[in-house]
Amino acid sequence: MIISLRGLAKSFGAVRAVDGVDLDIYQGEFLTLLGPSGSGKTTVLRMIAGFEAPDAGTIQLNGADITHLPAYERDVNTVFQDYALFPHMDVISNIEYGLRVKGIGKTERREQAMVALQQVRLEGYENRKPNQLSGGQRQRVALARALVNRPAVLLLDEPLGALDLKLREQMQIELKELQRQVGITFIFVTHDQEEALTMSDRVAVFDRGKIQQLDKPASIYERPANAFVAGFVGISNLISGEAGQKLLGKPGTWLVRPEKIEIDAQVPGGRSTTGVIREVEYLGPATRFLVDLEGGISLMALRQNTSESANTVASMRNSTVKVSWSIDSEFHVEN
Ligand code: ADP
Ligand code: MG
Repeated sequence: MIISLRGLAKSFGAVRAVDGVDLDIYQGEFLTLLGPSGSGKTTVLRMIAGFEAPDAGTIQLNGADITHLPAYERDVNTVFQDYALFPHMDVISNIEYGLRVKGIGKTERREQAMVALQQVRLEGYENRKPNQLSGGQRQRVALARALVNRPAVLLLDEPLGALDLKLREQMQIELKELQRQVGITFIFVTHDQEEALTMSDRVAVFDRGKIQQLDKPASIYERPANAFVAGFVGISNLISGEAGQKLLGKPGTWLVRPEKIEIDAQVPGGRSTTGVIREVEYLGPATRFLVDLEGGISLMALRQNTSESANTVASMRNSTVKVSWSIDSEFHVEN
């Protein structure tokens, strides 16, 4: 265990930003804190970094209690969304900065900085100033600047949040590769569920200062611990109440993922009902249908566009269709 949080809590006035967090993180793990804005992710990260003192609880790093250690004595580094590069320094000087502060000699720190520069694929950019770089390149410099210190743990607070979608997806892959390559434990914060699912070894889902679920991405998606997680991670159809009981023949709240629902087809041995297509959203490789069933239940269904064209699916709006799914794909969720 490289990081152990026990009973970690922090309030700002009446706001319980972090409300009793227990979390064990393994050496070399890519662990993501996922949750909506204001759920306490940044505050947890800042307490691990030492920028914020907890009201209660303990933080262990490699078995040592660091709860009250000053930030600069902790073997962790933080990468922020806004890069926080020194604008007047060139790339290589930005990366070397931490080593210079530690008193490492010029030759050695240049060598180490060049290795970090290669790790983030920015060879040839050492003498540029931050304002001569793209957003993605600036974020790589910020990464290299943290990696060069060889911290035990790297803390990343929405590091890709400022990038456009295409670049963000590319950086997600690179960042994950880089993490594997350097073997440093990453604690990554995001509010983007897709990002969390694609990059992480495990995900801690936060809501109102508490961990709602800690699990592997597939388990978070397929077996959400409660209605909050089910609603926050992926698109969820939650079936409950009187109309739900009538439809399913069982009480409680049930989750069916959109990709499990067939439109205009019958799943053998599965549910069979009809609905009216209210919305059609053509996504290129797939189409999303919003279907109204009886009793005020609306379900989202996702269908691969294996043969249909955009025109065909658009013409399905307002039509009455068969709706079907396997009973095995109904998952019971706690409220
Ligand atoms: P997240 O990173 O998940 O968006 P934060 O940890 O930043 O959440 O914030 C959690 C809660 O604590 C929010 O309600 C936020 O407004 C509050 N908060 C965070 N930092 C401060 C602060 N320095 N002063 C007052 N309130 C704060
Ligand atoms: Mg935050």
